[in-house]
Amino acid sequence: MFQFNYKLKVAERVKAKCERHPRYNPERDGRGGIKGGCSTCFSLFDLHQARLSLDAAHRDFLRRALPWTRVRQPRNRSNAPRQNDPPFGSQPL
Ligand SMILES: [Zn+2]
Repeated sequence: MFQFNYKLKVAERVKAKCERHPRYNPERDGRGGIKGGCSTCFSLFDLHQARLSLDAAHRDFLRRALPWTRVRQPRNRSNAPRQNDPPFGSQPL
């Protein structure tokens, strides 16, 4: 039997700003908002595009993995009720 395991974990915090164009926001201004072909702003734009691609890949991963996903039981968190997941058999069929 062939079996593989994937554990996906992404946690990066980035705070980037162009020194010359501190008001440039790649999410709001897009590629067209880059002034004078500024390489730093282009880098910010590319970073934003990479972020969007990563989000899309993450969503695709979750969607494809969902049928095989096993929910891990939280350890030492009995005081955090799981509202979206009632105990098995607690609801009438
Ligand atoms: Zn710039």
